[in-house]
Amino acid sequence: MQPFEYTANPGRVVFGSGSIKKLGDEIKRLNKSNPLLLSTPQQKDQVQALESILKDASITPAGLFSEATMHTPTHVTDKALQYTKDSGADCVVSFGGGSTIGLGKAISIRTGLEHVCIPTTYAGSEMTPILGETADGKKTTRSDPKILPGTVIYDVDFTMTLPEALSATSGVNAIAHAVEALYARAGNPVMTLFALEGIKALASSLPIIVNNPKDVDARSKAQYGAWLCAMCLGSVGMALHHKLCHTLGGSFNLPHAETHTIVLPHAIAYNAPKIPEVMKQLADVLPESDGDTIKGLNILLTKLKVKRGLKDFGMKEEDVDKAAEIAVSNPYWNPRDIEKEPLRETIRRCWAGEEARADL
Ligand code: NAD
Repeated sequence: MQPFEYTANPGRVVFGSGSIKKLGDEIKRLNKSNPLLLSTPQQKDQVQALESILKDASITPAGLFSEATMHTPTHVTDKALQYTKDSGADCVVSFGGGSTIGLGKAISIRTGLEHVCIPTTYAGSEMTPILGETADGKKTTRSDPKILPGTVIYDVDFTMTLPEALSATSGVNAIAHAVEALYARAGNPVMTLFALEGIKALASSLPIIVNNPKDVDARSKAQYGAWLCAMCLGSVGMALHHKLCHTLGGSFNLPHAETHTIVLPHAIAYNAPKIPEVMKQLADVLPESDGDTIKGLNILLTKLKVKRGLKDFGMKEEDVDKAAEIAVSNPYWNPRDIEKEPLRETIRRCWAGEEARADL
């Protein structure tokens, strides 16, 4: 066995249907009593339901700030910080996907307030010490152990309303974290266990959810898988897939989960010649792959009925060259060197919505 290093991220997880009822206890466990609730405008009604749960634990929220926005714009954070100060909150509770959790992290790192997360998508931000923020149209990312939320409540009941299409893409976004952990430079056997179990749980549950979004067992399995994949994202460095999605999302204003879904099979196909062992491990956990990871992924995405082309989200053909330029201009570690021509063709295939092929 190869030598390795493994650092476990601290953090408490409370998992299961109805676990939201423990929110009051979790806040008291932190010796806090005055939480500020956070959500997007779309989830304001859902987060309001927490008020009665907290009331049962004799806790009155300091307030509700429901303006969380994708990519954590700093002007929203500034407004939320003022609201936090005025409300006298002694901790923050973020309820939602990566956008709301991002706002919770942005407040927590600036104020030192404890952060309790209630994730309602599969994106995985709750398990990472990473914060991406946007100022003047530019997204920057930083990592700091203090950004990692201290408590996470995974209550499947709040994922039941996640629309089928977003469930599918958010789930593939989670799978992507685990895939890149399998060949990460700082990878280790523990992460590999999490990654393969997480991918297996998601690949088997997402097709069920797309056909029956109210299937609680499939939803629970998907949330369990998303948690494991999120731990991978929070523990080891990512490579081509995440960097490419970051470039494409940031430069061409493409939606987060949908972009990850389109790029994943193509990024794996690009890296395939350098990761034969990982290709075998992946094929083993992808249903109907017949030993072929790319085939397994193509079948999964077909079952999930997701859009396959970046052009479907407004990217222009002339942006393919621009994206390739940006992608090679910022060097980073990847199992295969970043070569401009094959990478350009990879991006073109993503743009056109072609099936991935490991022939570059
Ligand atoms: P999101 O948080 O932007 O949510 C998308 C939409 O779905 C929002 O309108 C939201 O209110 C709604 N929604 C969420 N859960 C719902 C539910 N259960 N029912 C109904 N509607 C629901 O989407 P996301 O993909 O979770 O997060 C994307 C953002 O998170 C991006 O900015 C991305 O960069 C960031 N992110 C950060 C990390 C990290 O580690 N820092 C990790 C993953 C994602």
